[in-house]
Formats: sequence, structure tokens, C-alpha cells
Amino acid sequence: MPELPEVETIRRQLSAELSGKTIKNVEVRLAKMIKGQVFRFKKKITGAGITSVSRRAKILIFSLSNGYAILVHLKMTGQLVYTKQGKIKTGGHPIKDGHKDLPNKFTHVIFKLNGRATLFFNDIRQFGYLMLVKAGELDGHFSRMRIGPEPLKSDFTLGAFTKLLLKKKKSKIKPLLMDQSFIAGVGNIYATEACYYSKIRPTRRVGSLKKDEISKLYLHLIKILKFAIKKQGTSAKNYIDAFGEPGEYAPLLKIYGRQGEPCLHCNTTVKSLLLGGRGTAYCPKCQV
Ligand SMILES: [Zn+2]
Repeated sequence: MPELPEVETIRRQLSAELSGKTIKNVEVRLAKMIKGQVFRFKKKITGAGITSVSRRAKILIFSLSNGYAILVHLKMTGQLVYTKQGKIKTGGHPIKDGHKDLPNKFTHVIFKLNGRATLFFNDIRQFGYLMLVKAGELDGHFSRMRIGPEPLKSDFTLGAFTKLLLKKKKSKIKPLLMDQSFIAGVGNIYATEACYYSKIRPTRRVGSLKKDEISKLYLHLIKILKFAIKKQGTSAKNYIDAFGEPGEYAPLLKIYGRQGEPCLHCNTTVKSLLLGGRGTAYCPKCQV
């Protein structure tokens, strides 16, 4: 699943294209991809303008001129393909030739926009969704989803992070970082990297972390997320940016996916364990 830096990259790229566009028509080819009533979804958004594209956790938010917003969750294999006068921009899961001959069998929703532009929502495994929410109800919606704080917002300080950790002393640190109700948008890749940079074994209980380890973890997590956005994200298995290009962060990964290879710091063979159901690479020497 794309993590925060990947979804943020798609957001930035689509925002430039979609902001100011009008939705002339919407075709829903697979009703289950819409959460809520399809009839209402179509009725409310047809004719509305897209004023901005924002993000909460891994969810894209298309704000509309009529007081509503469309939420887009790409989940595992969702993909947005934007075309304008024959030019193509794709973001999300790379589907082989999925951007060609559109619509195709993976295309579930089609937005016709003004200026001969079209936005296709494709999804092979159909775990993603679109949803209509009133703008005024967005905060309530996200709090019902129990989405944790945004790590890159200014109010997510070291103090705030420490306070959250103190409530979870018994949790293991790496699965906790990936818990969307704890922090929004961090998944396997960046949680694994943050533990390595901070020299913390991913299985450590939060209660055992020293003060300086917590501040290291905080600083590295923020730094890694920001740098990954700058590099347009990581293309591990299931992500390409809105221009159809892989992100540039993958070659910069220090530990994720490197089990069996030497640690870049100490040459010890990188190990892997299953933690919270996810493969987790770590250096047995550097990470204590
Ligand atoms: Zn090492």
C-alpha cells in the first residue's frame, strides 16, 4: 500500500491538474467502489467544481465548490489516471498497460472534466473506494475512522509524540508506528527505516525506550518522511507517481527489503522477522 509520502506525491501532482476543473459527468461502472448511495454520489458531484486536492493520512480529498468533498482511498491496488487531450498522468498502483486503452476492465469510475480532461479510477483488487462527505463533516468522519495525528503537521512535536508513546508503553514500537490510529500514514517501509536510523530494535517495547531514543526516533521519522516526499516516494511493489514514474526513494532505503545483505553501517548480515504479520528487516548489531 502506498504510504504517506507516496499519497502526498500523487496529491501534489494531481492538485495542479484538478484544481479549478469542473466535473461534467461521472460514470460508475462498479457500484461497490462507491461507499454510500451511487445515485446520490453522482447527483451531488455532477456540475461541481474541484477547488483543491488535499490529504488526510493515505486518503485523498477532492474539495468541491458545492460544500461536499470526494474521498479517494487507493488501498492496495487503486490507481488514478488523469488524461487531458491525449496526455496521460497516472498515480497509485502500477497496472501493466493499465493506463492504455482506457477505460479497461480495471476502470470502475470515470470523471469527465472540462477541457477534454478525464480522471479514471482503476483498481485490480477492488479494495479502494470513493466516498462523498460534506466538507463540514470531514473532521468527524476522520475521527470516527480513528485516524491518528498527521506526523508532518506543525503540532506534531516531540512533546506530542512522547505523550502519545507514554499511553502505549506495552506496545512494540514498530507495529505501533504503523498503527494508523497512532500516527497517520506510516506503513511498513518508513517504520522499518525509522527504527534502523534510530538504532532501535523493531520489537522493543515502548516502555523500554530511553528519552534520547524517543527523540532520535521522532527526528528520523519526520526527516525520512519529508525526504521521501522530496524524492516522490518509494516504489517497492505497488506505487507509481501521478506522472507514471517510479519514486526515487527506493535506492535510498537503508534497511527495508535488505534482509540477507550486509548492514550498510556495520556489515553484519541484515535479519528479518515477522512482526504484526509484516516482514521486518533489522540489523542485529546496530539495533538494540
Ligand atoms: Zn549494522
